[in-house]
Amino acid sequence: MDIKLVQNAEVHGKVVLLRVDFNVPLKNGKVKDDTRIVQTLPTIEYLLENGAKIILVSHLGRPDGKAVSELRMAPVADYLARLLKRPVQKMSECIGLKVQQAVKKMKEGDMLFLENIRFYPGEEKNSPAFAKDLAKLADLFVSDSFATAHRAHASTVGVAKYLPAYAGFLMQKEIENLSALLKDVKHPLTLITGGAKIDTKIGLLENFLDKADYFLMGGGLANTFLAAAGYDVGESLCEKDKLSVAQDIMLRAENLEKTFVLPTDVIVADEISDSADTVDLPADDVMGDMKILDIGTRTVRKFASIIKKSKTVIWNGPVGLSECKPFSKGTVAIAKALVETKGLKSILGGGDTIDAIKRLGFSEAHFSFVSTGGGAMLEFLEGARLPGVEILLEKKSASKKK
Ligand code: ADP
Ligand code: MG
Repeated sequence: MDIKLVQNAEVHGKVVLLRVDFNVPLKNGKVKDDTRIVQTLPTIEYLLENGAKIILVSHLGRPDGKAVSELRMAPVADYLARLLKRPVQKMSECIGLKVQQAVKKMKEGDMLFLENIRFYPGEEKNSPAFAKDLAKLADLFVSDSFATAHRAHASTVGVAKYLPAYAGFLMQKEIENLSALLKDVKHPLTLITGGAKIDTKIGLLENFLDKADYFLMGGGLANTFLAAAGYDVGESLCEKDKLSVAQDIMLRAENLEKTFVLPTDVIVADEISDSADTVDLPADDVMGDMKILDIGTRTVRKFASIIKKSKTVIWNGPVGLSECKPFSKGTVAIAKALVETKGLKSILGGGDTIDAIKRLGFSEAHFSFVSTGGGAMLEFLEGARLPGVEILLEKKSASKKK
């Protein structure tokens, strides 16, 4: 995938509109986790060192097209200023005369932070008029927001109609790492899927049916597959209307002679709490009002042995309800197996997956690549074209006419 890179753009003295994803968690008006900010520092520092004037733009939360005072960008802009030890001018709007005047006064190496872009209804509607007003502020557009690349919004896609668009370093890293998984990946390739719902994972499973060698199923998702395979899953989370979808996947995996592994034993409890009593049961023995909340110890061993012989593992979705301690052992064991396997390329993604591994004592550095995209990563790996990536593609020169 040939994309236009920021390092190939002429940025000196130019006003750069930089789309970042600083949709960070706030607590009492303070940034609680700065991962998303830190990850864009290479792009910001590069632009600063090369004499650009940076206009930062991001969304925060879901204000739904109107101003919401708790979702103002100011605490995030302040945080960035402290991190970089440089002033960051905060605006309380995104477009208009006041912003234009502030931009006019900017010097090389100055930074200006626009208000929460989702305060404007034109953002999510990708209104051309709004995109044009935004584009008017700058000479070029740099996108470092892979996590929103599956959304065609004014500040992720619309502005690129009016400005030359380039990928920042975080965007480049995401595209390079994820593209590699769709092309020249080292086998055996294992796909671990867990989490809650089949809908968000089905495209991923389908696209990897012919690419991956092993499929390890955990989490609530596995319950639907167990039910589809004829097991009683008691009162577990299970999507009864998706059984035929699950059956179809399993059948296709079998026809392709893939190893498709469902849990053979499971952790059940009759309540979801930190003090729940758990039992490890063969999947066969589940019944009544039991709830399957994690994979069992035999399944963990089986998954770990497959991980150990893999060269590449893609993991999306906790294999149990890991927010509660009694049901987090499976997810911890998978993370541990990934970390301990030498020569393994491990790729993780998904908001809850990343929250889970961090809460359970792991960090991004433990794995080969942790994607910042939840939905965007899933769609990318489904083989979909993401609008926020498409605008960055190098246009192939038209083939010569004979
Ligand atoms: P991601 O955001 O990483 O893609 P999902 O949103 O698909 O992951 O799934 C995460 C959710 O799945 C978590 O809230 C977790 O508690 C839930 N989950 C995992 N296993 C189970 C289970 N056995 N029963 C109920 N919920 C589960
Ligand atoms: Mg999720």
